Amino acid sequence: MRAMILNAPGSPLQAADLPIPTPKAKQVLIRVHTCGVCRTDLHVVDGELTEPKLPLILGHQIVGTVVSHGGGVHGAFPVGTRVGVPWLGYTCNHCRYCQSGRENLCDYAQFTGYQLDGGYAEYTIADERFCFPIPAGYPDLQAAPLLCAGLIGYRSLMMTGEAKRIGLYGFGAAAHIVIQTARYQGRQSFAFTRPGDMQGQQFARDLGAVWAGSSVEAPPELLDAAIIFAPVGALVPAALKAVAKGGVVVCAGIHMSNIPSFAYELLWGERMLRSVANLTRREGEEFLALAPKVPIQTQVKAFPLAAANEALEALRNGKIQGAAVLVVDQSLLP
Ligand SMILES: [Zn+2]
Ligand SMILES: [Zn+2]
Repeated sequence: MRAMILNAPGSPLQAADLPIPTPKAKQVLIRVHTCGVCRTDLHVVDGELTEPKLPLILGHQIVGTVVSHGGGVHGAFPVGTRVGVPWLGYTCNHCRYCQSGRENLCDYAQFTGYQLDGGYAEYTIADERFCFPIPAGYPDLQAAPLLCAGLIGYRSLMMTGEAKRIGLYGFGAAAHIVIQTARYQGRQSFAFTRPGDMQGQQFARDLGAVWAGSSVEAPPELLDAAIIFAPVGALVPAALKAVAKGGVVVCAGIHMSNIPSFAYELLWGERMLRSVANLTRREGEEFLALAPKVPIQTQVKAFPLAAANEALEALRNGKIQGAAVLVVDQSLLP
């Protein structure tokens, strides 16, 4: 099968021809149609996440069809079912986090496209218990970003509780989905982009932002919560400054540059600062059931599998409006 592989952090992905993997018990072999490109993939390529398997096939927003089951077992997804494979690829089911409904924090978790090979390839294997059915109305291209940008965004939004006015720092794949859910829930969104990104600000307004500006600006009114998607530590004090007393700032990314020191008064007034890590399967199911009701529409830029490096660079340089998606099944290319 064709695959794009990471041999070592800091080097570009390389095209390779690999044997099709064999699923073990409880695993399915999946023919990949599309795979979303996530900022986390960039953090792995850049060596900012330090525990990848190597060589590695990246990609944790996989949409594909079940081809076979390991060990002859026929589980929840019969052959031919379209499934999604997210970042959370395995949990132990025994540790104190798994036992308390917090499998996203599992001590022994394994992640797709990081410790497990992912979807930058024609085929992948996944633990069937961690796959999701894909809502029928979503084409393969549009479905892919739901699986991480959508899921992590949803968990981040839940962490803001009943907040009515929400700041979104970094208006990329996740924010362009969150804003639709927020609006559906009757909340107002305020979008913060890189300074000078007028296109991004317009994109946010088109999706219903009540205000859009640059991340160095103050919003027109104090916010109830903020979600930081951009991997920029300096946004933490900026977001704390933008939220009212009792507000929460949620850091949604897996990696961030260092947070500069800031005056305690920015946190005072019962403001909260927290991160969001990974996902639970229950939230994944909740979100994928909610998506068609909103209905969430994802905007994607498609790249052929062989152009994975170009897709990653476009993401790095802020050139993607919405989400970047690799098209593995050639028949889906325009
Ligand atoms: Zn566990
Ligand atoms: Zn991701």
